[in-house]
Amino acid sequence: MKVIHNPAEMQAVSNSLRSSGKTIGFVPTMGALHEGHLSLVRKALKQNDLVVVSIFVNPTQFGPNEDFTKYPRPFEADCALLEKEGAAFVFNPSPEEMYTQYYQTFIDLKRLPNHLCGLKREGHFSGVATVVTKLFNIVKPTISYFGQKDYQQSVIIRQMVTDLNMETQIHVMPIVREKDGLAMSSRNKYLSDKERKDALALSQALQLAEKQVREGERQSGRLIDEMSALIMKIAPSAKIDYVSIADPKTLDDIDRVLPETLVALAVYIGRTRLIDNSLIRI
Ligand code: AMP
Repeated sequence: MKVIHNPAEMQAVSNSLRSSGKTIGFVPTMGALHEGHLSLVRKALKQNDLVVVSIFVNPTQFGPNEDFTKYPRPFEADCALLEKEGAAFVFNPSPEEMYTQYYQTFIDLKRLPNHLCGLKREGHFSGVATVVTKLFNIVKPTISYFGQKDYQQSVIIRQMVTDLNMETQIHVMPIVREKDGLAMSSRNKYLSDKERKDALALSQALQLAEKQVREGERQSGRLIDEMSALIMKIAPSAKIDYVSIADPKTLDDIDRVLPETLVALAVYIGRTRLIDNSLIRI
């Protein structure tokens, strides 16, 4: 496995691999890798000749009061995991090389960011769309892998790829969870033992919504109320950022559940903002 820091070098390597007919599977990450990330790497290894994983904590997707500086960066341990899985390249650029002194180009989608996390994290999805575009131009992936964990991100990337005629395919993989249901996340490292227990409120609330829909509930308002009540019962000190029942394609809030419905939530457990979601089919 080779670690490449320089964008031009990564681009030259990718160009030469693609012109020799190789398919490139690409997994963009911010590092602090866990089984969720590794599930994407494993799928990419199965479907491509070789796999590139980027590790880049992207400054443009963090707000001024967010955790950019304290985001975990266990680079050596991440590389050891990726080497063991069989990734061919780790691309690890510096913020200065990705955003040079006069950097001024950003990608903005008109509608999809105006929902869910986009309403709470101003500019976040512009930062995401911009860095992913840059990474696609550098890595030239045949297939790129994203997690359903960041559902809104995945629909935004798909839309951007369609809108801008980008050539990579996008595959979205299921959420990998801990045994007790907590969605794996690099930010789970921030949780104290008590907060780790409180964090179960998110997956439990999703399970409650699934159960109630199975039992015939169709009204979004009632589902949201029940979910919110359960979250506050499990974790009285939690702060709900949002609980949303939405159309999985447009992300618009819906009053009644559809044949396929997105249930998504963001909750502060202590100072840590956690997200989770579920696609419910009836
Ligand atoms: P991140 O490092 O948080 O930017 O995540 C990199 C990629 O891994 C994104 O496409 C995430 O959606 C995906 N990912 C993160 N956590 C999980 C998880 N628990 N299950 C599946 N994919 C995940």
